[in-house]
Amino acid sequence: MAVNLLDFDLEGLAAFCESLGEKKFRATQLFRWVHQKGASQFDDMSDLAKSLRDKLRGHAEVRALPVITQHISADGTIKWLFDVGNGDAVETVFIPESDRGTLCISSQAGCAVGCRFCSTGHQGFSRNLKTWEILAQLWFAEHFLRSHLGVSDRVISNVVMMGMGEPLQNYAALVPALKVMLDDHGYGLSRRRVTVSTSGVVPMMDRLGEDCPVALAVSLHAPEDSLRDNLVPLNRKYPLKELMEACRRYLAHAPRDFITFEYCMLDGVNDHPEHAKLLLQLVKESGVPCKFNLIPFNPFPASGLLRSSNNAVQAFARILLDGGLVTTIRKTRGDDIDAACGQLAGDVKDRTNVGTRISKQRTVMLQQVRDFETRGNDGMRND
Ligand code: SF4
Repeated sequence: MAVNLLDFDLEGLAAFCESLGEKKFRATQLFRWVHQKGASQFDDMSDLAKSLRDKLRGHAEVRALPVITQHISADGTIKWLFDVGNGDAVETVFIPESDRGTLCISSQAGCAVGCRFCSTGHQGFSRNLKTWEILAQLWFAEHFLRSHLGVSDRVISNVVMMGMGEPLQNYAALVPALKVMLDDHGYGLSRRRVTVSTSGVVPMMDRLGEDCPVALAVSLHAPEDSLRDNLVPLNRKYPLKELMEACRRYLAHAPRDFITFEYCMLDGVNDHPEHAKLLLQLVKESGVPCKFNLIPFNPFPASGLLRSSNNAVQAFARILLDGGLVTTIRKTRGDDIDAACGQLAGDVKDRTNVGTRISKQRTVMLQQVRDFETRGNDGMRND
């Protein structure tokens, strides 16, 4: 079976080239064709020797994930649903802003952590994505957007691993994907512009700090253990004290000198002024330099939870700000296409219907993707 070249970081690709009897430096050329130019056809890789292209045709491929749907929000946010086989689908969201283009990438089909406020968590866990399935989201989005917008320069300036799944529970596939994002011959993103978001897998936070320190966001959501045990079940294994110590250790390696704490605002659950005061106490006692990002909750029926009022969010933010913490309130983006934070995968019913949706839309969409890949078309039609 042909090897998918999206599965390799540069080192892995060099080893693959050597296994074909080729010099290591060929890997750099090949890597640039795939990631920087978005080439998927070996015949297009004009500066590779014909003998190498012939070998590659026999042993390798650049295979994207089939796109099931693409939705474009009124605010320009784009959400793709990718087919990862066996009725599973993952979502990827592009968020354009005036000074950046951020891609939110999934790391797992479903998620085992089961946070109460997260629609992915309510689906349960299906499987880890492979490295190529993580990178295929970036590869597709970057080159689709360039083609769609008619530009040759980079469109995606920031990547956040905040889509479906807990990235640090898929560590072996995650790290090579991060390395490709950072590689100057790949996407050339700085470590500050690649963010891994975790619910607090403490041992893997330590490993990430050693292996591939990028910016780190931690889903906090509660200022004390009994509430966090309920909202983020992983807290029972790695309680707040351990989590905060791991954050402090991470900062010794991190490209930024702070941790971003994500805090989803849930009406009557974690949004009382007393919770804000406890948060101040928690971070001050821990000594972790940090920023807070307050996230308006996007309600879905199975959660039984409601979004905090604007007043409650503002009052909460004020307490943190007055206490000296940099605090932002996340703008909701892509509300009209269910692309806002915590809405990925739509709802549980959506996912159970994925098989039907795939069979209905696959033929049309696969053709559109093929058209895009061969540059014979100016992109896919939007839903
Ligand atoms: S918030 Fe993240 S870690 Fe928690 S269930 Fe959702 S995807 Fe998993």
